[in-house]
Amino acid sequence: HGRSLRLQRYPVRNRETLQAWDAADEYLINQVEAMKEAKQPALTPERPIVILNDGFGALACWFAAQANVVSSGDSYIARKASEANLADNNLSAVTFTDCLAPLPENPQLVLIKLPKNNRLLIWQLAQLCAALPDDCTVIAAAKAKDIHTSTLKLFEKHLGPTSTSLAVKKARLIFCKPDKTLATAMPDIQRWDVPEYNLTLTNHANVFSGESLDIGARLLLEHIPQDPKLKTIIDLGCGNGVIGLHAARLNPEARITCVDESYMAVASCRENADLNLTNRNQLTAKVDNCLESMINEDADLVLCNPPFHQQNTITDHIAWQMFCDAKRCLRRHGRLIVIGNRHLGYDGKLKRLFAKVHPIAQNNKFVVYQAEK
Ligand code: SAM
Repeated sequence: HGRSLRLQRYPVRNRETLQAWDAADEYLINQVEAMKEAKQPALTPERPIVILNDGFGALACWFAAQANVVSSGDSYIARKASEANLADNNLSAVTFTDCLAPLPENPQLVLIKLPKNNRLLIWQLAQLCAALPDDCTVIAAAKAKDIHTSTLKLFEKHLGPTSTSLAVKKARLIFCKPDKTLATAMPDIQRWDVPEYNLTLTNHANVFSGESLDIGARLLLEHIPQDPKLKTIIDLGCGNGVIGLHAARLNPEARITCVDESYMAVASCRENADLNLTNRNQLTAKVDNCLESMINEDADLVLCNPPFHQQNTITDHIAWQMFCDAKRCLRRHGRLIVIGNRHLGYDGKLKRLFAKVHPIAQNNKFVVYQAEK
């Protein structure tokens, strides 16, 4: 289409081998450009274009110059990537919101990158159905292998009549016509108890292990230290906050900071602190990319159940960044306690950073390591 963009993933890594966009982004852009040429529908600069779940900002960058773009999703990293790519390409501002915030009024076009999690998809479709005018065009895109009959049924049930395109470069599009009569109350937020720890956990749609306690988290919970000398504790990659909440209960004098890159995780964690802690001010929940915004040498203990994928890519670079950040943020003799699948071999990574590393618990699937600075 006579334009080019320079796009990078976030965080930016030396010798990156993965690209910051995919065939589904290209297919969406080509489709909208073809529609514009045919004036079906004619796009106007006045009405917003809404983009959901943009990976690293390819869609925001492409459409920023054409209309008022609102980009909504659950990932702080995706937002940081989009902002960096917009700046790199000298593009005008895009409005960013998280997927718990209301959608803008009267959009003309909604472009969706299909999320991995169907609970998030249902949440977003319900939000769209309540908000979209009848003449709004909705197009979703994903790898063809990720679009199942059941996915199309979700669109039919929660948003309106749905059809699909042919596959191009292994990507497919989903077209959906919003039907307001399908609008219902927003889906229920999952809430369940962990009776052994006397906790009630709220889980917004995209929270990790939002339907039950993760088996890794269960083992880590058994090995959280109780020690009056602990003043500052971080739960890194907090999800619903289960680890940080139990640490707070065991160490009532400590300040707990829970960090996640998912807005829905941070909102859930905040709600769970309000629900479960006597002193709600003991815990702060915030979005961050690992511990990017946290100061050096301030923490006595970092607790971490790391992720092993970013968007659709299986990777250990986030775990590595978490370990590096934990080391930077720990005081001398501070401890990092990490749980990992046995086969991930986190001990090799930890030994490159910390002098003292040893396993403190294990079962047939997981190992809990303690690393001391
Ligand atoms: N602590 C929770 C538990 O044990 O149930 C969740 C653990 S889950 C394996 C990993 C968490 O890390 C997810 O909630 C994910 O959103 C978060 N995460 C992924 N990448 C992150 C990053 N770059 N910075 C902060 N959190 C991240």
